[in-house]
Amino acid sequence: MSEYFKIDPWGTSYIKDYNRLMEEFGIKPLTDELISQLPFAHRLIRRKIIFGHRDLERIIISIRSGETYAVMTGIKPSGAFHLGSKLTADEFIYFLMLSPKAFGYYAIADLEAYADNKIPLDESYKIAVDNLADLLALGLDPKRVYVYRQSEEMRVLRLAFIFSRGVTYNTLRAIYGEQRFGLYFSALVQAGDILAPQLPENSGPKATIVPVGADQDPHIRLTRDLAQKYQGEFGFILPSATYHILLRDLTGMEKMSKRNPMGILYLSESLESAKKKVMNAFTGGRATAEEQRRLGGEPEKCVIFRELLSVHFMENDAKLRELYLKCKGGEILCGECKARAWEIISKWLSEHKKKKEEMLDIAVKLLEEHTLA
Ligand code: SF4
Repeated sequence: MSEYFKIDPWGTSYIKDYNRLMEEFGIKPLTDELISQLPFAHRLIRRKIIFGHRDLERIIISIRSGETYAVMTGIKPSGAFHLGSKLTADEFIYFLMLSPKAFGYYAIADLEAYADNKIPLDESYKIAVDNLADLLALGLDPKRVYVYRQSEEMRVLRLAFIFSRGVTYNTLRAIYGEQRFGLYFSALVQAGDILAPQLPENSGPKATIVPVGADQDPHIRLTRDLAQKYQGEFGFILPSATYHILLRDLTGMEKMSKRNPMGILYLSESLESAKKKVMNAFTGGRATAEEQRRLGGEPEKCVIFRELLSVHFMENDAKLRELYLKCKGGEILCGECKARAWEIISKWLSEHKKKKEEMLDIAVKLLEEHTLA
């Protein structure tokens, strides 16, 4: 642990200095030069929410040369989709949209849900169906993805077992600190998830991109080490990754936690409850209206501006900039601003719910058949 950051993929993480994190672990900044080589830049990239990468160049080469590449992510089925799950889902869909040759792999991390949260497999199955319906409603094409539950995917489990021979307890402890053995094992299963798209059954070695939050980097480092170690045997290409910053919850806390329900916005919660959360979200407003008119607000500190509108709900850069300037100039007060934000968010949530309803049957089918190609 350092004073600049603490990274724990299963617990509480904080990052005060992203440059230090990047220097220490060899994450490269996502430069404008690199961004300009992408077919188009997602708002998360334009707004530097995705700040770093490992070997993104390899994916750009695949896109430009029309080669197949894999996009890999997953979800721990421990509860309903919330804004944090949506963030990774948006990135997953984006990397699939960058090329018609991209193909997605989506792991339902039910083993991790058991190891970390003791959620029985039959229960996590039901949660997974619900999560998948959200993912489909967000725009995932079910023909361009392979969905599986870790507990049933022999290829992944076999890889995890093989990898267990290549790591020692000391290595795992150095990466993750002292943990229960179930979590160490689920880390090896995740390495299996990330490298399974390169197995002969999945048409062999290929570039793979894994979009993650910065707190998930230990998994990426372990997996890249294993890919290197088993390169001779499997021909693995080291997986690429992009990293998004850690976002706060609605109350401004550094990490979303179910212990703070007012901090988490679920995509399927009632409009009444969602409104309460949005209207009580942490802002960058001043103590009094007079002060805010005089000094202006602080949108950089504001959850409404940053976590909600910039990250999720305001696609138009010009409109976002306009709000930023109005806030800075004291031309808008938080009450009015929140009410406007709620108009946008409530419309989005209502539409999403409708789309999700239509996707439930497809989600069940997808989980049973893995892909609908
Ligand atoms: S006016 Fe809007 S953007 Fe500015 S601090 Fe208040 S809620 Fe945030």
